[in-house]
Order: sequence, then structure tokens, then C-alpha cells
Amino acid sequence: AASSGAAGVWFRKCLRLHDNEALVKACAFSEVVPFFILDPHFNRSAVGVNRFAFLLQSLQDLDAQLRLRGSRLLVFQGRPHEVLADLFNGKAGVRLSRLYFEKDTEPYARSRDVQVECLAKEHRVSIESFSGHTLLDIDATVANPKFKPPISMKSMQSIMTAAGPIRKPFDIPKIPPLNIEGFEVPKISNIYSEVPTSTGFPGGEQEALSRLRHVCADADYVCQFEKPKTASTGRPGCPWEPSTTGLSPYLKFGCLSVRTAWHAIDQCIRGKRHSEPPQSLHGQMLFREMFYLLGASVPNFDRNEGNSMCKPIPWGDNPVFLQAWQEGRTGYPFIDALMRQLNQTGYMHHLGRHAVACFLTRGDLWQSWTCGRDVFDKLLLDADWALNNGNWLWLAGVAPFSAPYFRIYDPCPGPNSSLNAEQTGEFVKHYVPELKGMPSKYLYKPWTAPLAEQKKAGCIIGQDYPKPIVDHKLAREENLARFKAALNGQVLPEKFGCATSDPGPM
Ligand code: FAD
Repeated sequence: AASSGAAGVWFRKCLRLHDNEALVKACAFSEVVPFFILDPHFNRSAVGVNRFAFLLQSLQDLDAQLRLRGSRLLVFQGRPHEVLADLFNGKAGVRLSRLYFEKDTEPYARSRDVQVECLAKEHRVSIESFSGHTLLDIDATVANPKFKPPISMKSMQSIMTAAGPIRKPFDIPKIPPLNIEGFEVPKISNIYSEVPTSTGFPGGEQEALSRLRHVCADADYVCQFEKPKTASTGRPGCPWEPSTTGLSPYLKFGCLSVRTAWHAIDQCIRGKRHSEPPQSLHGQMLFREMFYLLGASVPNFDRNEGNSMCKPIPWGDNPVFLQAWQEGRTGYPFIDALMRQLNQTGYMHHLGRHAVACFLTRGDLWQSWTCGRDVFDKLLLDADWALNNGNWLWLAGVAPFSAPYFRIYDPCPGPNSSLNAEQTGEFVKHYVPELKGMPSKYLYKPWTAPLAEQKKAGCIIGQDYPKPIVDHKLAREENLARFKAALNGQVLPEKFGCATSDPGPM
């Protein structure tokens, strides 16, 4: 057993050795215990199997990196305050007298950490936490008397300027050895009966750093990066490959430090002509900061009610619509391919997220953004409380930073659509194999193919693939009228939404 007085490093989101201030501080002591707690709060009903597998891979990688340095990761299972009480008491064969971790500003994490602070006080364990998951110290920024919740890139940039230069990442410290047996990283098959289906994003710091290097090796790509020009349907020949950096799951779990990424991109663009925020890669990272600030400063940021970032809209409540959307059975192949991509891989391009979020809410199905948010929260590899809520508010058209509510995406994107969907049908055919034989010209609207073509393609609409769940033109018209009325404090009755076709075969 370890002697009394070890310094614990509690890994929560910051699943990395690089740029890890808690690790740096703990390593000033001679006995250091790096550990992670698998908290039952994040259980099978809250977290899809693909994201959980990503987490376990990230823990395995962290453990492997620590072992290379003579240490290791201990993985405990249980409610954090119970596990920590044991660690403070020396019951688990480890006795901690100090605890270091990275701050987490999500509501659940905040309430958990308040409890942990009380516990530490009771046990006379000293605690220190550090801001590391964001470029800014979110709490310090929000506490500034001049702070106003940012609702535009311009206001975000002013906050960044006032905060001064972004500090450089910390180096990996020398880590003291640790000889404790047990508490290994569990296997996914011990926790989930489902088998993970996502293959494109292996978890872990090594993969994160190698992706960042890969992105930055192509300085032209970084300098010319303009988000609205990237394709929603992957890369030609590889519809499953993101056309953007694909760094989001690594930033979400902190396998990659956002500062490391920021400075690497800075190195790439320095002295060259380059795109600017909001379109640029730095711009994307500023949106991330913006939503973290809003999440930390706006009460009820994740709700329809009592949320100053959300206009009140009388959304419908139609479980059939929601389920068809979630399972990719709306009869709109672009929407269905995207949702099946989400289910299968845990990833979807930003413009794809635009398309399906608009479709579920103000565009077609008139369901609350919170329903879509919950589906994303479970299935996305990169599901992030602040980013997910912020972007859903944006796409539902209810936030002050939303695009005008009347700008509705056509779920059957043509060559000039701002959704940048490829037109050969490759993406749809990959994720909706029923439509494999359908000629490209009908792929986004297969119900318009003559019956003879449908037969030839081996896909009869309404039999082998669903008919459209709503008539987009009618639903759009009705929803625009309802949205406008709601902004004037009126509620219009539903005309078309529920009355249109059954979603058809499963
Ligand atoms: P890149 O374009 O390469 O961007 C680099 C990084 O910048 C991303 O990894 C991400 O950390 C950040 N970023 C990019 N776009 C945004 C944005 N709009 N808002 C905030 N940060 C951004 N992103 C998440 O990480 N988690 C979520 O839960 C999430 N939910 C979303 C829900 C909806 C409805 C929408 C429309 C967007 C959501 N996004 C979310 C934002 C965005 O779609 C993803 O961050 C992005 O597609 C991830 O791919 P990438 O890493 O290749 O992005």
C-alpha cells in the first residue's frame, strides 16, 4: 500500500499528459497517483456505446503513456464522492493528502465538485483545480464586472483581446513511479451488451496529437479553411471521412489541449495569407469559447423556459416524428443518411448537423430543439453540454445569435445549396443502402422517380424505403407562419404537420 500523503491527479476530461497543469503541480511531490473514476451518472442510458468505447480507448492510451514513464492509471468505479472518501481514508490501498484536477464548468460537474470540496475539507485533504479545458478561464471571465454574455463573433473577439495572449501549453513533467496492482481499464464488453460500430475515431492522446500534426502538415488547408465551404458529405471516395479537422471528440475529452491546437494552428498561418474568424479554424475554436461562456453565465441555458437565449415557441410533441428522425427513416435520404451516420459512427459534419437540426425543429417536424439535443447528447462522440445546447439553440432559430428563423434549409440539397452536399449520391448510398440502385438524379428525392425506375433500382418508395414523412413545402409554410405568430405572442393551430403521411415501413 502507498504511504500516507500521496498527491492524486484526478483525470476527468483532461485525458492527456501534455498541457496538464494538475499533473504538473502534482508531480512536484514524490508520490503521485493518477486516477480516473467511472461515474455511474454517465451510464448506458446517457452515453451511447461508441462514445463510451472512445472514453475507454482514451483511458487505455493514458495508462500506456503513464506506464512508459514508470507510472500508471488507476480506474475506479463508483460515485465520485464515495470513491474519493475511500482514497482520502486510505481504504483503496492509496491515501491521498492532496488532490489536483482540471476545472469543469458543466452543471453536473459543478455540483459534483462542490460535494468533493466539502469532503476534502472534512478529511483535511488540500484541493487545487486549474482551468485547462478552454482558452479562457471561464469562471474568471464571467466574474469580471464588465462581462456580458457574447452573442456574436465580434463580442467574443473583444473578450479574447481583453484577456490577453493565450498562454503556451505546459510540457509533460517527470512523473514519479507508481507500484499499485489492480484497478485496470475495463473492457467495453464488461459494461455494454452492444458492440461499438464507430471505427474512424480511435480514442486517446496519441491519436489526437497525430491528427493535429496531420492537419497542420497541410498549411494550405489550414490557411484556406473556411467552414461554410467544407462539404457536409465527407471527402470524395470516403464519405465517412470528415472534410473538417475531425478534432472534436479529442477536444471534448481533452485528449487534445485546446491551447496546443490553437498554437499549432497559429504556427501554420503565421506570416501567410489566411482566412479569418468566424470562418477560419481559430474562428471555430472561438465559437467553442463563446458557448462555454454562455453555458456558464446564462441560467437555464439547456432549457426552453427561463432561458434568456431562447425565445418561447410552442413546439409540437410527436414521438413518431422524433423516432423516425432519430432512426433515419424520414423518407428524406439526405436527412436519413446523416442520422444513420450519427448512429453508426458518432460523428456528423457541422452542416449536416445544421440540416438535421433545422429539419427537426423550425424547418419540417416542429419538434423542440431539446429533443434533438438529447439524441445528439447520447450519440455524438463529441457531445459537449455547452456546445450542443448552444448550437441547437442557434439552429432552432430561437437564440439572439441564430440566423433568421425564415432561412430554412431544403432537405433535398441541390448543387447550389449552402449545405454543400455532393451530388453523385455517394454519401447517401453509403449510409442508406436501400437506395444503392437509385439513379443519382433521383437520390435526394426518390419518390419522384417513376415506378419503373424504382422497380429497376430494387427500391419501391413506401415499401423498401419510406415516403417523405411530411411534405417539405407545406410543412415549411406552416412552420414559418407558426414561428412568426409565436414571436408575436400567438399560437396557430397545426394544419399539415401531423396530418401528412405515415413514415412507412421501418
Ligand atoms: P472543425 O470545423 O475542424 O472545428 C475545430 C473545432 O472547433 C471543433 O473540433 C470544435 O471543438 C470547435 N467548433 C467547430 N464548430 C463549432 C461550433 N459551431 N460551435 C462550437 N465549437 C465549434 N460540437 C461539439 O464539439 N460537441 C457538440 O455536442 C456539438 N453539438 C452540435 C449540435 C448542433 C445542432 C450543431 C449545428 C453543431 C454542434 N457542434 C458540436 C459544433 C460542430 O458541428 C462540431 O464541433 C464540428 O462539426 C466538429 O467537427 P470538427 O472537429 O471537424 O470541426
